[in-house]
Amino acid sequence: MKIKSLVMTLAACLFLLNVCFSPPAYGGRVDVIVDHGVDKDAEAQARAAVNGIFDFFQKTYGIGLQRDIRIKLSCDKLNYKKAFMNEYGVSEARAASEAKGSLGVQRGGTLLVDLGDIRDNYYQLFVLCHEMVHFYQGQESQDKHGAIGWMLEGSAEALAAHILETVGVKGAKGYKNRSLEMLKKARSIPSLEILHTQPGLMAACGTYGGRVTYTTAAMAVLTLVEWRGYPALFTYFRALKSSRPDDAFYQAFGTKVSDFEKSFRPF
Ligand SMILES: [Zn+2]
Repeated sequence: MKIKSLVMTLAACLFLLNVCFSPPAYGGRVDVIVDHGVDKDAEAQARAAVNGIFDFFQKTYGIGLQRDIRIKLSCDKLNYKKAFMNEYGVSEARAASEAKGSLGVQRGGTLLVDLGDIRDNYYQLFVLCHEMVHFYQGQESQDKHGAIGWMLEGSAEALAAHILETVGVKGAKGYKNRSLEMLKKARSIPSLEILHTQPGLMAACGTYGGRVTYTTAAMAVLTLVEWRGYPALFTYFRALKSSRPDDAFYQAFGTKVSDFEKSFRPF
């Protein structure tokens, strides 16, 4: 029910946006390609969410869509794997391994989401939002957004949760508390320092589990958000265009990234 009302709310927002800002509200071309096998409700919900997220970024952060975006929603692992080959031009072996280890990905403005393999409505939207945040990180930083691994993934997680919580999606409430409870139950959690590089972050996913690793990164980002607010995250990504990662971090949050990484504890 709540999902349905989200669809209605997002559709209403989009309608208002079109009325107020028509003609074109977006500075980039939007292509959404959906496999035939994707459930119709899931497709409608995803399409409404995509438009709602454009609206959210424009209204909340003043960030418009400035580059083309291509979103491919797959119905199963086989088609998701094919999408890696067709959209990114990777080999079949590479596509198989990437598809096996993920549910969504964003590269250079092209998003792939394996919608058919995510059963839960909230999580379908969460993965889509997470990849959309990567799109905006890439747009704002001119694709230099991967400089600090935990900032890349942690802000995608934290912003996805924030967007879904703001629009009132069922199951979205209390993300931070739920996450902290989950981390407290984990056998061990990674230090932020080992999540600094992307290879370090990927290795930690193998050691600690992807969920624990990404959530640790998200809790670090939420600490920064408590200090400086959500817009500071985009100050950082924008600064990456022309600054070294350490300098971009200092500009956005007023502290050295190495000091923050040493001192951070999720609880
Ligand atoms: Zn990600």
